Amino acid sequence: MHRYDDETERLAHAVIDYARHRLRLDPVPLDGPRSYEELLASAGETITEEGLGGDAALALFEQVLAPACISVDHPRYLSFIPAAPTEASSLFDLVVGASSIYGGSWLEGAGAVFAENQALRWIADLAGFPAEAGGVFVQGGTLGNLSALVAARHAAQARRGGARPDRWVVACGSEAHSSIDHAARVMDIDVLAVPVDDQGRLTGPELERTLALHGRNDVFAVVATGGTTNFGIVDDLAGVADVCAARGLWMHVDGAYGLAALAAPSVRPLFDGIERADSMIVDPHKWLFAPFDCCALLYREPALGKAAHTQTAGYLDVITEGGDDWNPSDYAYHLSRRARGLPFWFSLATYGTRAYREAIERTLTVSRAAADEIRSRPYVELMREPNLSVVVFRRLGWTDRQYHDWSDRLMAANFAFVTPTVHEGETVTRFAVVNPRTTVADLTAILDTMA
Ligand SMILES: *Cc1c(COP(=O)(O)O)cnc(C)c1O
Repeated sequence: MHRYDDETERLAHAVIDYARHRLRLDPVPLDGPRSYEELLASAGETITEEGLGGDAALALFEQVLAPACISVDHPRYLSFIPAAPTEASSLFDLVVGASSIYGGSWLEGAGAVFAENQALRWIADLAGFPAEAGGVFVQGGTLGNLSALVAARHAAQARRGGARPDRWVVACGSEAHSSIDHAARVMDIDVLAVPVDDQGRLTGPELERTLALHGRNDVFAVVATGGTTNFGIVDDLAGVADVCAARGLWMHVDGAYGLAALAAPSVRPLFDGIERADSMIVDPHKWLFAPFDCCALLYREPALGKAAHTQTAGYLDVITEGGDDWNPSDYAYHLSRRARGLPFWFSLATYGTRAYREAIERTLTVSRAAADEIRSRPYVELMREPNLSVVVFRRLGWTDRQYHDWSDRLMAANFAFVTPTVHEGETVTRFAVVNPRTTVADLTAILDTMA
């Protein structure tokens, strides 16, 4: 099993050929889910005493399993938040896998950590974070948000000399992502939901009013959203920063989707105030063209993240004794880690940051054109002017059932993946555009199917 023999050499070619073939497809197939029964009938039991052999297992993946997975990088995959990894980033994912790098410590993965940190620095600079800022790539925004809030609570408790209220509380806008609620459940803390304004934003004045009304001294952090998932709305970050500064609260910005747009000059002013945050996250696997799974978590003062997250154990002493070494494990809720920032780093290093700026601007331009197109058609109506690249709209007169049937038809025809969403009890639908290959023609063709 562990010998690089002729058989392995053949398999290497087969696997790499498969990867090359997948990367060259244009367009990629949309594909779609199959039932458990269908998959079992086609694939059978794949784990056997003798093994299937690499060729058979690869063929099974190619013919049965891969077609049962929707391609998130299809240009008409517009649901949730899609992904559109660059060729360089996908290719480098193969290299990371082949390189057996432990990405948790400087001792073991210095070269990888050095490169990951330069990629993190690019993001920190876009946000205007200070030179000492730093962090780590974690699995996803959910884990990034949790890790930041754990650090925030740890810092608050340390500032209070270890004293803690009955219940810690985190404040966020009522449109915040479900992962904030989830983090609160994991941490056994409460969430104070702040009403959003008529544009869907958490604002400084409303935050101040809600905190004053709440009255108690148990809030330790505020989560602002830099691009909500459903609408792409950016909170009033400067207003939130003012309140956090006045009240000594940790400001975390959840920008899993939207903070990629820090690189886009046309919308950069929406994020003014981000430079005053204590922590932030952005998922390169969303709008920064990296493969799953990859979230950049950054702290203004990384020492606060480290104080909360460093694990101590006898067998780890040789790592912690490294003194000033940068150990990615120390900055989030994890220990062993894949150097998952490397595909993103390789892509940034390969194409340069201008290509990123242009690709993000392109998706913004296409989104604005889609909004214009919706305004020009009598049977659809924009729910809001898009802040970023999410366009939410209603089909006048449609019931919830009609949206679902339409969405199923698009999928069944292998044409597009556009799902309904619910806003204030009303079923509507949305285009989330993060793929530079998505064209205005793609979107108008989908709108045509709603006429
Ligand atoms: C997607 C998203 C998350 C969760 O990120 P995962 O990588 O899916 O865990 C959190 N917050 C926002 C605003 C998001 O869009």
